[in-house]
Amino acid sequence: MRLVLFGPPGAGKGTQARLLAERRGLVQIATGDIIREALKNETPLGKKAKSYVEAGELVPDSLVRDLAENAIADEGYDDFVLDGYPRTDQQAAWLTEFLEEKDRPLDAVISLAVPDEVIVRRLSRRRVHTETGETYHLDHDPPPDDVDPQYIVQRDDDQPETVRNRLSVYRDETKPLEEYYRERGLLQTVDGTGGIEDVYDRVEEVLDDLRASA
Ligand code: ADP
Ligand code: ADP
Repeated sequence: MRLVLFGPPGAGKGTQARLLAERRGLVQIATGDIIREALKNETPLGKKAKSYVEAGELVPDSLVRDLAENAIADEGYDDFVLDGYPRTDQQAAWLTEFLEEKDRPLDAVISLAVPDEVIVRRLSRRRVHTETGETYHLDHDPPPDDVDPQYIVQRDDDQPETVRNRLSVYRDETKPLEEYYRERGLLQTVDGTGGIEDVYDRVEEVLDDLRASA
């Protein structure tokens, strides 16, 4: 199955993608995680991306295109869930073309709908593990007791000022892609509020319907 998880920062894309990976054997391809790894290792890509990520802006399309396409190719063009890609018209057009060339079009774009006030609460309490990249939430999904607290930090771009900018970038550049996918009959909107398992059940329902109609 070839999926995109779509939605604003903090909607739960990463959380749901990881569950789909664990339980459905799909490979999670998260451009944000790949970029953060590059920043940490100060690779050429990391150096180019740094100022954009820190400001809560999108990294230029040309820098993320190869990341996404190489990761999809590594998985043999199937059984993946894209998390955080595409985020612009250009990225969506490239993705369509790239997958069509291989005759492996997307099965669905699952858009997690979450109101802004919930997003802000989720992001202000999001924490990440500096070494594993694992995401936690101080209230809803706290780090287990055996995880050393010194590795649990807040992402720099989860500070309130940067979050506001990321939400406005989302509204201007990314949200319009819903229309692009709706026109192609791929958009599936899922209520992203409530508990993590409740949201997962709704995602599974969508996948069951897709399988039934295949
Ligand atoms: P979130 O999960 O909060 O939506 P991500 O971890 O996906 O955030 O992305 C973090 C940052 O990495 C973004 O704010 C942006 O700077 C960069 N980034 C990730 N994916 C893309 C993309 N597809 N296009 C451009 N920039 C991206
Ligand atoms: P995204 O990848 O869309 O930016 P994340 O998966 O990182 O979002 O989730 C953002 C924060 O909200 C994380 O701290 C995560 O643990 C938490 N979270 C995710 N889904 C839910 C949920 N359904 N209810 C409460 N908190 C959630």
